[in-house]
Amino acid sequence: KTFKDLKVSAPILDALEKEGYQNPTPIQEQAIPEVLKGKDLLGCAQTGTGKTAAFSIPILQLLNNFRPKDHKRGTIRSLILTPTRELAIQINESIESYGLNLKLKHAVVFGGVNQFSQVQQIRQGVDILVATPGRLLDLVSQKLVWLDKIEILVLDEADRMLDMGFIHDVKRVLSLVPQKRQTLFFSATMPKQIQALADSILSNPVKVEV
Ligand code: AMP
Repeated sequence: KTFKDLKVSAPILDALEKEGYQNPTPIQEQAIPEVLKGKDLLGCAQTGTGKTAAFSIPILQLLNNFRPKDHKRGTIRSLILTPTRELAIQINESIESYGLNLKLKHAVVFGGVNQFSQVQQIRQGVDILVATPGRLLDLVSQKLVWLDKIEILVLDEADRMLDMGFIHDVKRVLSLVPQKRQTLFFSATMPKQIQALADSILSNPVKVEV
């Protein structure tokens, strides 16, 4: 199969070609068409499988193709939560390259550095925010970030977020995003606690395992 077979749109196909991607990986082949249909996703996948593109490509395409009528410029439409700054930076770079030909804006926030330049970027308006949980909630409590217009939420490496003690932060974020949304949940392992979290936040998810 090709990305075109998965109904990936022309501007993204061009960007993928530039990246040198020839064919989708198994998780991309399974996930992209389902996410494009608006389904929730439960993905059991490690880093290295191409999971970042599996969620980033359809998110870019959905946000580019549909915009809510009441959408105000500058409100965050998709939030990608990930445990570490390294992952956050990587995801943001991937979004940059796949979205090269689109006009969507994106930014990344993580702790351990001054928030100034992150805040400046957010002030300019972003469609997609990649974030680690602590810094995100910091910015929310300062009223610099609002999560009430999120259409698509991604929890990336959920097992690691729990291992790192982010469970309360993740639950707090879940309480701030709209109930009516699309949710994509990725974890390398599915212990009981993770499965329970997934069950509580996903509705009729498509399960993808690689
Ligand atoms: P990830 O599992 O998302 O961390 O991706 C692992 C690596 O595979 C990254 O360096 C991606 O750029 C690369 N990659 C992802 N999808 C593809 C693809 N379809 N073809 C070639 N490389 C890919």
